[in-house]
Amino acid sequence: MRQHGGVTQAAADPQDPSEVTVGLAEAPADAVREIAGLLGRGGVVVLSGAGLSTESGIPDYRGPTSLARRAEPMTYQAFTGAAAARQRYWARSHLGWRHIARATPNRGHQAVAEMERRGLLSAIITQNVDGLQQQAGARDVIELHGSLSRVICLGCGERTPRDDLDQRLRAANPAWAAQARQVNPDGDAVLDDGATDHFNVVDCLRCAGALKPDVIFFGENVPPGRVADCYALVSEAQALLVLGSSLTVMSGYRFVRHAAKLGIPVAIINQGPTRGDAQATFTLDAPLGPVLTTLTTRYL
Ligand SMILES: [Zn+2]
Repeated sequence: MRQHGGVTQAAADPQDPSEVTVGLAEAPADAVREIAGLLGRGGVVVLSGAGLSTESGIPDYRGPTSLARRAEPMTYQAFTGAAAARQRYWARSHLGWRHIARATPNRGHQAVAEMERRGLLSAIITQNVDGLQQQAGARDVIELHGSLSRVICLGCGERTPRDDLDQRLRAANPAWAAQARQVNPDGDAVLDDGATDHFNVVDCLRCAGALKPDVIFFGENVPPGRVADCYALVSEAQALLVLGSSLTVMSGYRFVRHAAKLGIPVAIINQGPTRGDAQATFTLDAPLGPVLTTLTTRYL
């Protein structure tokens, strides 16, 4: 059981699907109602994380559906420091991108887009790089960690569509074939040893500089202007609603701390505990798609 802000609900046991059903139908109704009360006043900033996309088939690093990560994520320093690291990254990402590009928005994304359509949200800040929130129809989305759908040149800074690079990589690797064993939410696919050795990388068409996905790598900072914009939005918010993030990374957690410091109510819906639970006014431990659908269809 988790208790917060007068709300008590049974944590759904991910091992037992019937527990999830029971939990949704009965136990969290109070929590759903409390969160609906916050949303109904409008001016809410949503902060979403990987847990919102798991129902689209993109596994979370840390949530209950996560698989043990079999390789360390690429760091900015490793990527920019060695051509071999970039070759390994692009080979893995070449397969991972196909998986991300095939994914479609789920009920959770659609419910958030519906909240925006009804004028309840002042902004959506997402830590996800999969573009699914926008595909669901949300318009005002800040991609805190960038987007896999774009590529940036480390030489001249030009941004180009990932689809263009995908075509170039396919053309440069006509005989290359590998099977992804696991795809991570950053589009990084785990391949068998040696599978990346013969992958041909392509460079910027304009300046021949190295290309990088337009996402924030581990060891890289979110651009200060983007962070400042998010702080400003949270400062003006009536409430902060965290969806599907364990808030393990400071990049998102800092906005929860900021809201709490200003006395702005924080509601967290996530499967499993989060680093922000102590600062939250309401917490709800439940699968995102069903609970957000319940919120928008029954309570708002
Ligand atoms: Zn360039």
